[in-house]
Amino acid sequence: MADTYDLIVLGSGPGGYVAAIRGAQLGLKVAIVERERLGGICLNWGCIPTKALLRTSEIYHYMTHAGDYGLKAENIGFDLTKIVDRSRKVSGQLNAGVKGLMKKNKITVVEGFGTITAKGKLSVKQGNGTVDLEARHILVATGARARDLPFAKADGKRIWTYRHAMVPEVMPTKLLVIGSGAIGVEFASFYNDMGADVTIVEMLPRILPVEDEEVSAFMEKRLTKDGIKIVTGAGVEKIDTGADGVKATIKGKDGTSTTEDYSHVIVAIGIVPNTEEIGLEKLGVTTERGHIKVDGFGRTNVEGIYAIGDVTGAPWLAHKASHEGIVCVEKLAGGNPHPFETWNIPGCTYSRPQVASVGLTEAKAKQAGREIKVGKFPFIGNGKAIALGEADGFIKTVFDAKTGELLGAHMVGAEVTELIQGYVVARQLETTEHELMETVFAHPTLSEMMHESVLGAYGRAIHF
Ligand SMILES: Cc1cc2nc3c(=O)[nH]c(=O)nc-3n(C[C@H](O)[C@H](O)[C@H](O)COP(=O)(O)OP(=O)(O)OC[C@H]3O[C@@H](n4cnc5c(N)ncnc54)[C@H](O)[C@@H]3O)c2cc1C
Repeated sequence: MADTYDLIVLGSGPGGYVAAIRGAQLGLKVAIVERERLGGICLNWGCIPTKALLRTSEIYHYMTHAGDYGLKAENIGFDLTKIVDRSRKVSGQLNAGVKGLMKKNKITVVEGFGTITAKGKLSVKQGNGTVDLEARHILVATGARARDLPFAKADGKRIWTYRHAMVPEVMPTKLLVIGSGAIGVEFASFYNDMGADVTIVEMLPRILPVEDEEVSAFMEKRLTKDGIKIVTGAGVEKIDTGADGVKATIKGKDGTSTTEDYSHVIVAIGIVPNTEEIGLEKLGVTTERGHIKVDGFGRTNVEGIYAIGDVTGAPWLAHKASHEGIVCVEKLAGGNPHPFETWNIPGCTYSRPQVASVGLTEAKAKQAGREIKVGKFPFIGNGKAIALGEADGFIKTVFDAKTGELLGAHMVGAEVTELIQGYVVARQLETTEHELMETVFAHPTLSEMMHESVLGAYGRAIHF
């Protein structure tokens, strides 16, 4: 006989495990099915282990610039195995944390590959056997995987996806990063700071293409200054792998192709949702460009089947997956949550320097027909930034000129990924420029630049 639950969650990433906990909190009997490691890509192969690596490269950067702070650091070096070990240990700690949370919330963890066999039924392959489960509600949170180049599949030796790039056995000497979204730029930043010769190639006209144009331009200039070669408007046509490296042929803006040798390639050209072999076709669940189509409560077109997270589409972010999961479970448990919306989801890139944003870029606000006021405050105008030795960057705010609505905020510089949440809260509370100007910011902090940027939009900046 099948084990029966109120809710089965398929996939235990930040979407799935958070949804499972919320379900348990609401009194549902919950099972979660995972084929690999609890915590999904985020904890094991994404958000967290990359931040552990980037912390290492940040400290290494400071050590190599110790003289700037009046310090002496000689014979600076590193042990790659220990760097990777630390990152894996951080992941392991969080994986164990999720295990503990499942236990605490009395959620049954079922290991294996799950497939929905009929409405309300799910079968889990475990080695040679299967376990059958039943539930009123089945929530698909199977996430996504790296997209391969069609002509050069990742082999883990010379051509890497993020999974390989996270656990290098050797430090690349000359690295080609294909794709300049957050993942590509974070790896480029890590390997560049660790001493590799890094090139980023991007098909679109600018790097970090979803960010505000001024942020992309700043990052291109700054990363170039830090030694990264950036080629935009260019496509990789061919990669030939040899014993000692790869030859990559890149077609540039002007249409000419050049071939260059690299020791390694990281392919960061996007993701493919995990929708295959989980029973969606048989049930007639609608997908759109590969992603499962859902409404604001994670409901698919088939009653009793829900989906959240990367498998439902952009933005492909952990906090988006978690929030979607909570909304979905609250609704299916009989609650009355606000439908999920994407208008106020922050996006962060944890490179050196960092990038963070929320809402409309200046260009998007104009395209939307808004009359706008723009404030921009540079790090060089902030005492704390100068004291930190991090005087490079800016904070830009975009307001609706008529209503004072904060349409968007865009930041580049040290620690901005920690600052952005201030504007996210402000937008959620529907704050206008008036309340932001009235707010007192602690001195000396980087957050004062958030105030100054708002003041600047109305011609009132004090320190610039
Ligand atoms: C290198 C990298 C860095 C990133 N950095 C950030 C960041 O800093 N911030 C951020 O917000 N996002 C980041 N992301 C994105 C983030 O990891 C994802 O958006 C997030 O993990 C999506 O969560 P999810 O729950 O939808 O799916 P996932 O985390 O992908 O989890 C899905 C889970 O489902 C399991 N699964 C799939 N199919 C089955 C099946 N049939 N049976 C059983 N189990 C199954 C998988 O094994 C997996 O564990 C990063 C991603 C990468 C690759």
